[in-house]
Amino acid sequence: MTHSTDVAIVGAGPVGLFAVFECGMLGFRSHVIDTLDAIGGQCSALYPEKPIYDIPGYPQISGGDLVERLEAQAAAVHPVYHLGQRVEKLERLAGGHADGRRFRLTTSKGTVIEAGAVIIAAGAGAFGPNRPPLDGITAYEGRPEGSGVQYLVRRTEAYRGKSVVIAGGGDSAVDWALALHGIASQIFFVHRRDQFRAATESVAKLRALQGPNTGTTGLEIVVPYQLAGLAGDNGMLSEVTVASLDGNRRRLPADALLAFFGLKTDLGPIAQWGVALEQHHLPVDPATCQTSEPGIFAIGDVASYRGKLKLILTGFAEAATTAHAIFPQLSGGKALHFEYSTTKGAPGSQKVDAQG
Ligand SMILES: Cc1cc2nc3c(=O)[nH]c(=O)nc-3n(C[C@H](O)[C@H](O)[C@H](O)COP(=O)(O)OP(=O)(O)OC[C@H]3O[C@@H](n4cnc5c(N)ncnc54)[C@H](O)[C@@H]3O)c2cc1C
Repeated sequence: MTHSTDVAIVGAGPVGLFAVFECGMLGFRSHVIDTLDAIGGQCSALYPEKPIYDIPGYPQISGGDLVERLEAQAAAVHPVYHLGQRVEKLERLAGGHADGRRFRLTTSKGTVIEAGAVIIAAGAGAFGPNRPPLDGITAYEGRPEGSGVQYLVRRTEAYRGKSVVIAGGGDSAVDWALALHGIASQIFFVHRRDQFRAATESVAKLRALQGPNTGTTGLEIVVPYQLAGLAGDNGMLSEVTVASLDGNRRRLPADALLAFFGLKTDLGPIAQWGVALEQHHLPVDPATCQTSEPGIFAIGDVASYRGKLKLILTGFAEAATTAHAIFPQLSGGKALHFEYSTTKGAPGSQKVDAQG
């Protein structure tokens, strides 16, 4: 199916979501595409329950709550989300169209979106987990949260009463072990050595929790062991085997394996879209956030310019800059009469072309 819209936004991270709102305030409708099944980018995928302290107006807000609020704010301007699909192709339409469509995006699911302008808010690229090399692992993936092999936690409650193996030695592994302690019935924390690459304070908390594994709220640090095998029936995980370098093997009862070996990000197809790339980033003019290609803009972590700060609040400002830079391009050169939102009125009250 081919969709037609004013602006296509690649990436539904916090910055892409705010761009929906800023474009909406100027009367433009957006379609947003993300590889992940959920919106929120890094905030949802990497730290939904961690507090962020530097969002203006919020002394403290978790990654998940921030995304919820951005979604609610954007809802007023009626975005269309296309999730669970990666934008593979971005082409310029020959000659453009009378209604302003200039670009065609095609996703991995075959969705086609034609738009007058494109905003790339792709962060570090599409996310994918670093999978441990275990035979038959894919059979245990994609199961409901709290079971099978998972690479991120969305809801800690899904693990209530479950036996969970957590593998990895970095911040994610340690933080989630701490967060799930007292929720999961047992946690086996597996790492190949007895040293961790996580915040010292968190590691101290983890070690303090280590005690006899009673099967109720126990946590056992299983070192120096590595994942060696998975067992279960019909994709329902029941056991994780771990092995030490000197040949000891242990079989751990497990409803779920949480594997935290980092997420690999892949700018992937963006390199083929004809926009200039520099060290995995898209250089932009900070006055407009336009890339080397007219009509294609980049904001948030993926955009670079001198003095760039990779912060959510910087990305928010870039979203506003971009929406204003897009305005004359989508309105036949008409100058934008700048107004504050207090003057302009509630989002959604602006005129929006009937598209999409
Ligand atoms: C642990 C941690 C803590 C942090 N704490 C803070 C903090 O306290 N304050 C702060 O300001 N920042 C913090 N950050 C950084 C902040 O999360 C990022 O700056 C922010 O997420 C960038 O937002 P974004 O929308 O540009 O990109 P992202 O959040 O990375 O989202 C980009 C999205 O684009 C999607 N995508 C990429 N390519 C494609 C494609 N081809 N097709 C479809 N979708 C695609 C990806 O799947 C992803 O969902 C933290 C980061 C981490 C990891």
